[in-house]
Amino acid sequence: MFCGRKVLMNRISRRRFLKIAGIGAGAAAVAGSAGRALQAMAQRPGGGETRVVPTSCDICFWKCNALAHVRDGRLWKITGNPADPLSRGRLCPRGTGGIGAHFDPDRLRAPLLRHRQRGEEQWVEVTWDEALGHVADRMQKIKAEHGPEAMALFSHGIGGNFLKHTLKAYGSANIAAPSFAQCRGPRDVGFELTFGEGIGSPERTDIANARCLVLIGSHLGENMHNTQVQEFATAVAAGATIIVADPRFSIAASKAKHYLPVKPGTDLALLLAWMNVIVSERLYDADYVDAHGFGFEHFQAEIASRTPEWAYPQTGIPPELIRATAREMARHRPATLVHPGRHATWYGNDAQRSRAIALLNALLGSWGRKGGFYFPSSMDVPGYPYPPYPKPERGKVDNPDHKYPFASETITTGIRAATLTGQPYPIKGWLVYATNLLQALPSQAETLGAIQKLDLMVVMDVVPSEIAGWADVVLPETTYLERYEDLNVEFFREPFVALRQPVVPAPHDQKPNWWIARELAIKLGLGAFYPWQDIEEYLDYRLQAAGYSLAELKQRGLVKGPQPPLYFEDGIAPEFATPSGKIEFYSTQLQAAGFDPVPRYERPEEGPPGSFRLLYGRAPVHTFSRTQTNPVLRDAMAENEVWVNASVGARMGLASGDYVQLRNQDGVLSHRVKARVTEAIRPDCVYLVHGFGHTARGLRSAYGKGASDSQLITRYATDPLMGGTGTNVNFVTIEAGT
Ligand code: SF4
Repeated sequence: MFCGRKVLMNRISRRRFLKIAGIGAGAAAVAGSAGRALQAMAQRPGGGETRVVPTSCDICFWKCNALAHVRDGRLWKITGNPADPLSRGRLCPRGTGGIGAHFDPDRLRAPLLRHRQRGEEQWVEVTWDEALGHVADRMQKIKAEHGPEAMALFSHGIGGNFLKHTLKAYGSANIAAPSFAQCRGPRDVGFELTFGEGIGSPERTDIANARCLVLIGSHLGENMHNTQVQEFATAVAAGATIIVADPRFSIAASKAKHYLPVKPGTDLALLLAWMNVIVSERLYDADYVDAHGFGFEHFQAEIASRTPEWAYPQTGIPPELIRATAREMARHRPATLVHPGRHATWYGNDAQRSRAIALLNALLGSWGRKGGFYFPSSMDVPGYPYPPYPKPERGKVDNPDHKYPFASETITTGIRAATLTGQPYPIKGWLVYATNLLQALPSQAETLGAIQKLDLMVVMDVVPSEIAGWADVVLPETTYLERYEDLNVEFFREPFVALRQPVVPAPHDQKPNWWIARELAIKLGLGAFYPWQDIEEYLDYRLQAAGYSLAELKQRGLVKGPQPPLYFEDGIAPEFATPSGKIEFYSTQLQAAGFDPVPRYERPEEGPPGSFRLLYGRAPVHTFSRTQTNPVLRDAMAENEVWVNASVGARMGLASGDYVQLRNQDGVLSHRVKARVTEAIRPDCVYLVHGFGHTARGLRSAYGKGASDSQLITRYATDPLMGGTGTNVNFVTIEAGT
């Protein structure tokens, strides 16, 4: 039987949870791109009163703990909290520039009700009572006509917790986040199938102690997850060997001893060849494999033909380089970390590719070892004792008949498909919290088609994003600097509980997510599920139950538990929540479900002649599509560029800075975007930073700046194991910009 994440986490929780005992509290600020805009906004008064408020950053989901500085009642700057194990007192550039979110002139200011066709972005301002009354009335009608399961919630981040609570109380379990099927899902499933546990978030990667770090399409430094980037810098400074396989010469590649410009779509061939070398040359950790491995002989036989010579025509990587890098990995084992990545939805074979990464780590003995993967822990902070939720009469809509047998979380695109088709039952209402589905999901046409089937479409967000433009009701949320949040009690290297609290008041009629969720529940007649009167009462209850208080957290921002053991060598018992109780080199679960028990490579589809595979990634100063109007971060990067290989540029007469447009295989034409003509990308692909090319008119300062990869991702390849959507399967041609 497949051991899903929930089951595993419960098992791990019992084994490794720590009771909170005494605490120690412990700055330096990474210079962000504060820039001209920040200086103008802060208007630093001289000699005024300054106060410092501990809180946490929400510019991305990493939730670094921070200190917000307020001068003369005005937000001035934000720095890392030195006591924080995530930030270690240093925020990333986005976190430093986060105060721009408070000052953003494009923010939503009041609740809005649609008064023309969906998508026309024509609104009337209404009161909160009117807006939530309208939503509650429509939800009651949907419940009466279609059942409560016909409402779905899409959310991102910790801010969605209270809305999830309201929807469960209403009677629906159709709650999903793009972070699974559009991001880390295949990775977690691949590792769960192999080790019985996923990677988690924050990732359990012991980068700082790695002696060899292997990055496969993982852009540490551009993908700015604070702790990982700091640890990467530590590892580089300590002389760790860095190996990077990527079609693009990334920032991380510039630190590498070995750079492998792998042909897009062939990563699995490279992984199999690396494992072939390590096994055939008996370089693997034989003691570790003998003690903990299951099905090694089958695995060995399966990869016997996957030699570097076999991989060369697939990947474009010379056999001697594959051999040299495999030997380098083995030389440093077990402190060789083959990083599992995060955004792993590339080609539709992603869970199997991630499983190959897991197996390579298993050969190197890095799971549970210093410099590999540590065992995270969490504080034991009880939840609030709510009444039990009503049991939905119908199961979740996203994965009928367990079509994707290894999906361990709800599949966003499964809910979208059910909305489009009405099967296995109709979805008639969407609540969308803090996720711009038109940029987060592939195929905007399918998303818009699904929206047309809805009786109710509600968006809660800080700015008027593209998805908000299609809502019936838009609810303006406060920024993270103006609200309380649910407690952050995550699994990490050091257990901690942390508070987000308001630093300054909301400038207009915006409300925090907890207030919106509670008021909506009351209007739905579900007030019994919110016995607390305000969030402070809720937070204090939970903290008191753990032996702390809200007053203490407000003062300190976080409390930490004692450092737990991290590795097998610290005495942690090697346990693997797989069917065999071992590391599964050969997966009987996959075999039973009709899938390859050992990953098998298939040649990726080629694009039309003359086209380039469209790749995309992150910039260190923006998060998804949600920060482009932040005046500080916009000051650092206002538009994206398309990376084009220099030989292609020469052939087309293109120079860096020329504007071009991209047309995909289905005829979709992008906004104009500047070319970056460079040797730092293979000639068979182009690359965009995600999140630009906004089309929502309310995003005045970001409208039409750069090109949107999401607009061009009209096709996707669905992972048969878990329903993830591989999106690196689109091809574009380059046209002169207008
Ligand atoms: S990684 Fe950066 S943006 Fe994300 S929470 Fe930390 S400081 Fe904020």
